[in-house]
Amino acid sequence: MIDLRSDTVTKPTPEMRRAMAQAEVGDDVYGEDPTVNRLQEKAAEITGMEAALFVPSGTMGNQVAIAVHTRPGQEVIVEAQSHIYNVEMATMARFSGVQPRVIFGERGIFTAEQVRNAIRPKLYYLAHTGLVCLENTHNAVGGRIWPLSGAREILEVAHAHGIPVHLDGARIFNVSVATGIPVAELVRGFDSVMFCLSKGLGCPVGSVLCGSREFIEEARRVRKALGGGMRQAGVLAAAGLYALEHHVPRLAEDHENAKILAEGLSQIPCLSVWPPETNIVVVEILRGPTAQELAARLKRKGVLVAPAGAGTEARKLRLVTHLDVSREDILRTIDLFWEELRGL
Ligand SMILES: *Cc1c(COP(=O)(O)O)cnc(C)c1O
Repeated sequence: MIDLRSDTVTKPTPEMRRAMAQAEVGDDVYGEDPTVNRLQEKAAEITGMEAALFVPSGTMGNQVAIAVHTRPGQEVIVEAQSHIYNVEMATMARFSGVQPRVIFGERGIFTAEQVRNAIRPKLYYLAHTGLVCLENTHNAVGGRIWPLSGAREILEVAHAHGIPVHLDGARIFNVSVATGIPVAELVRGFDSVMFCLSKGLGCPVGSVLCGSREFIEEARRVRKALGGGMRQAGVLAAAGLYALEHHVPRLAEDHENAKILAEGLSQIPCLSVWPPETNIVVVEILRGPTAQELAARLKRKGVLVAPAGAGTEARKLRLVTHLDVSREDILRTIDLFWEELRGL
């Protein structure tokens, strides 16, 4: 099977498994797992933040950040298509007692002016704005890169109002590889950043939340409260360390494959393809089958793709490149799309 549904489907390589098998471990709830500690130190170093915390998932990393930055009754500014707002099961309401204040970006990217207009005046009878969240790359709009200058303007506006800014950087390494800008530079000024090891970096499990020492100290308490205190987690952290040491530059191959895939598919008359900026290709089906139907037919031929959703999204597919799909897989996928859609 050629699995293009997500970059989460990658399996650990033999070398990564070897690193996991050989990991030195201890009880991380006691802070005694040397491999987890090394991963956290390395993540802090890469992001230029004071400290870091290994968490089981990106969702937990984001939601721990929201819990630490906000107080119940506040609002959190999020983009309408963001992961935090759409795919994290309303956890900010459930767990932190805050509500999303939704801004509609231009294809997923909002401006500092929009943030300025969404920040509540500090009147006693209004909910106060507790946090602003950005997402880079922005998943649902095709792995778009949040322009650094725009992000910095938003940081300035939020901080001028005393409001922290969290970065959902699930795929921040894709941004870094695509732009050549170091991760530390991309996240400078943010109050916290979460990145995923379990996506394009190829780990079986894990994300890392980074921030100030004080922030991470509190985040560790919240992680435990959520049931995220792990014991001999060094086995998993070893995969993370391995990925940070060996799997970052190769993201360029995924970006190249995404480009080739997009170019190939854009030759098919009934498809409209968004030019990918990183490793996510969004395809709109203009005529013929729905996304569900096309996905089912491709599955029978050995290719898995993800229909984007219901309603107006029912004619959209999402294809994600990653380290378990080769150039040949990409070319084969283009051929199979042609087989299904020729004449439409
Ligand atoms: C995948 C992802 C997350 C976290 O997902 P988990 O499945 O909980 O690890 C968060 N934000 C974005 C943008 C993502 O793509």
